[in-house]
Amino acid sequence: MMAKCSGCGANVPSHDETCSYCGSHNPHYVPPDNNVNQLLEEAMKAYEGERYAAAIDFYNQAIALDPEVFSAYFYLAAALTIIGRHAEAIKAMEKAQALRPGNTAVHYNLGMLYKKIGRQAEARMYLEKALELVKRDPAVQSQKQLRKDIEKELAEFKRWKLF
Ligand SMILES: [Zn+2]
Repeated sequence: MMAKCSGCGANVPSHDETCSYCGSHNPHYVPPDNNVNQLLEEAMKAYEGERYAAAIDFYNQAIALDPEVFSAYFYLAAALTIIGRHAEAIKAMEKAQALRPGNTAVHYNLGMLYKKIGRQAEARMYLEKALELVKRDPAVQSQKQLRKDIEKELAEFKRWKLF
């Protein structure tokens, strides 16, 4: 279930403690069920151990039980990206984006994924959105560096004169 952020009015999923746009506390926060948490833990162990097929399987199981856990989609997309399944990674990352529309990293990753599969228009759109979000994203720790990375990617598009 999505709730409305009391700070800015954006949608906030029930498993997020804070709003992805403004960082306000979510008073409707509820943690995922224990069996979902267990799957997420197994998935993270597999991911960190570079057992990506196993990680993907655990994340998909977690999503089947609870379709509103941001980290499940985010790391599912990351694992799929590492093993080169870019189209599926995009689908998973777009689900993560729907849950946290104010998250810069998600938009940056989507831009890079679309770039990898040669879809320049989408790549540019997501990178431009990332550049807009990075200025006020409460989740970004090194704002300057991420901003530089995004600007570098966008500059490439201009150099190639694709638009
Ligand atoms: Zn908010």
